[in-house]
Amino acid sequence: MSLECELLERCSFFKKYGDTKDLACKGFIKQYCRGEKMSQCKRKEYSYKHGQSPSEDMMPTGHEISL
Ligand code: SF4
Repeated sequence: MSLECELLERCSFFKKYGDTKDLACKGFIKQYCRGEKMSQCKRKEYSYKHGQSPSEDMMPTGHEISL
C-alpha cells in the first residue's frame, strides 16, 4: 500500500525539498509525507489551524530546516 499525504502536491516544503539529497530531510519525507507519521505533521497542523501554509522551511517536525 502506498501512503501519501493529501497536501503533498501543494506543500511548499515538499516542493522545495522533495528531491533533496540531505539524509535527515529525506528521512522526514519518508516518515511524514509518505509514511505512518503523516497525521502528526506540524506543517499540516499549522495549515489547518491557520488556513494558510507555514514557511516552506518549516519541517514536518515543526522545526526550521537547517541545510
Ligand atoms: S510536510 Fe507535512 S503537509 Fe507537507 S507533504 Fe509532508 S506530511 Fe504533508
